[in-house]
Amino acid sequence: MYDTIIIGAGPAGLTSALYLLRANKKVLMLEAKSYGGQILNANKVENYPGIMSISGYDFATNLYNQVKNLGADIKYETVLKISDDKKVITDKNEYQSSTIIIATGASNRKLNLPNETKFIGKGISYCATCDGNFFKEKTVAVIGGGNTALEDALYLSNLAHKVYLIHRRSEFRGEDKNLEELKTKSNVEFILNSNIVSLNGQEYLESIMLKDNEETMQELKIDGLFIAIGRIPENEIFNNVVDLDDNGYIIAHDDVYTKTAGIFVAGDARLKPLRQLTTAVGDGSLASLAVLKELKKSK
Ligand code: NAP
Repeated sequence: MYDTIIIGAGPAGLTSALYLLRANKKVLMLEAKSYGGQILNANKVENYPGIMSISGYDFATNLYNQVKNLGADIKYETVLKISDDKKVITDKNEYQSSTIIIATGASNRKLNLPNETKFIGKGISYCATCDGNFFKEKTVAVIGGGNTALEDALYLSNLAHKVYLIHRRSEFRGEDKNLEELKTKSNVEFILNSNIVSLNGQEYLESIMLKDNEETMQELKIDGLFIAIGRIPENEIFNNVVDLDDNGYIIAHDDVYTKTAGIFVAGDARLKPLRQLTTAVGDGSLASLAVLKELKKSK
């Protein structure tokens, strides 16, 4: 029997663990992939208060080590369901807990085009810092208009021969600072007001077909495509214990409280106005406080 089970070892989940382990609680962390979550993909983090500049990997690893040093029990298992009596069922085991924090973040949004899955690892990637090295001196494209796309294009501009940045509008969501830096790169070309309509190749991706707002088609020969069009939550499995909005985000009140007593949500998985590292760790600490209050109540 655990005091709390934290599902997801990204910044939100790890922060909850940090606070709860320091409060001497019996904590189990369950993670389906690897610790760190989305921030692992960030080349540089320069908007976290008190830290001038750090790679996403270093940030995640520091936080992970901090939690491991407190004796965290982290199991790499995929959660399939939370039962109504707060049993967490994974692909390997079942665990009982007094409280649960859902900190599962969100997954890469797909273009949902034919061949997209077939070309993953064969020209298509969702992580420039993970796979950029495979495209040294090659021609690549990044699609998206948020900070991830801008940072990916910047990162790739230092490796690849040529980088196309494709965005469906002419305005970017990402920060001006990133955009201005990108405009100084001579090997980066912007293709705006355009969508990708097909992904072509035999075994590997060889080209993409673009269609602009005036319906003009253009074929672009590329070696790699980095898809950076945001993230989507995967909370359907929890819908017996939490309410979801139309986009699949968990509806919370008072930041981290779900409709079920003792089940809390932290980080990108919940409906919130800003999904950033700062708000993820903020949620993590708030969720741990909520857990401590709930545990006191049930004593
Ligand atoms: P995002 O801000 O949601 O941007 C997604 C982009 O993809 C948007 O420009 C959107 O276009 C485009 N898009 C969505 N669906 C599309 C589709 N089907 N086809 C083509 N384009 C599509 O996602 P993000 O860039 O991953 O950033 C997520 C959050 O993390 C943001 O708050 C961001 O600031 C933060 N972040 C921070 C850092 C950092 O601090 N170092 C790094 C990366 C990300 P529209 O604009 O037209 O909707």
